[in-house]
Amino acid sequence: MVFLPYTAISRDSECSVPLISRFDPWRSGLCTCPSKLSFNPYTGCDHQCLYCYATSYIPNHRTLRTKESLLCTLRREVMRLNGEILAMSSSSDPYPTVESELGLTRQCLKIIKESSCRLQVFTKSDIVARDADLLEEIPCTVALTITTDNDQLSAIIEPKAPPPSKRLKAIETLISHDVPVIVRVDPIIPTVNDNPAKLICTLAALGVKHITSSTYKVKADNWMRLTQTLPETAEKLRPLYFEQGEISAGSRLLPRELRLKLLKNMRYLTEANCMRFGVCREGFSELNSAQCDGSWLMPKAKEASQCRLA
Ligand code: SF4
Repeated sequence: MVFLPYTAISRDSECSVPLISRFDPWRSGLCTCPSKLSFNPYTGCDHQCLYCYATSYIPNHRTLRTKESLLCTLRREVMRLNGEILAMSSSSDPYPTVESELGLTRQCLKIIKESSCRLQVFTKSDIVARDADLLEEIPCTVALTITTDNDQLSAIIEPKAPPPSKRLKAIETLISHDVPVIVRVDPIIPTVNDNPAKLICTLAALGVKHITSSTYKVKADNWMRLTQTLPETAEKLRPLYFEQGEISAGSRLLPRELRLKLLKNMRYLTEANCMRFGVCREGFSELNSAQCDGSWLMPKAKEASQCRLA
């Protein structure tokens, strides 16, 4: 077991529950991802994004917790896998601020490196670049979320996440290690970040091959945060979501035609810059020019003989 020197965060009391589970976001039927598994090295997240959906279904999500038996449970469960895609993470960020100090996700990568599974990393942190040396040895993709290239705007809507300027530098580092990078421009919030033309050009110039996007979905708690932080924006959005919009899987969505228009624009910008495009949980799979989550970029699984644990 790893020694944890950091005592300011609590342990998740549910440490005995299985770590790896079937990836099944919201069980809404809108997900077009290939079959995969997921696990979260941490419970909760400290990035405090206004629009976060996970706060609506994970109790106390904004308080970061470690998992008591994380490494031995992961080692045991990952040994049973046979080439599956493992998403890390679907309802938290594997690179919260304390990961620089704790290195738990780095320890997880060392375990995964010895397995046969293929890895998708989802993060909003530049700390991921620290692990480029391990990621280049794992069949993996890294999906960084960048909702805007404006550090000031990001500081309002994602107040505790590293600024996008740092995330762009992380992309450069990962690509220089031949790690395929996907960028999630997600969520698109009308009047806030709905025409990221400059960002898309920048991403293409860095060597990003795939963009995934979706529109902001209102849940009770993220709407409360948005109205408190951006009251004028919320007033403009209110009729779109609460009068003209639709309800799907427990969320309020923009009107269908507006979602289609925003996402068609994203697809146009992406393809004009020679990248592939996917939409996430919108019911517009016809807009996908490749597997929605960028898994087409995933290197093949290692042969069993290459895996020390196989
Ligand atoms: S990084 Fe993801 S999980 Fe963390 S607060 Fe932001 S949206 Fe929620």
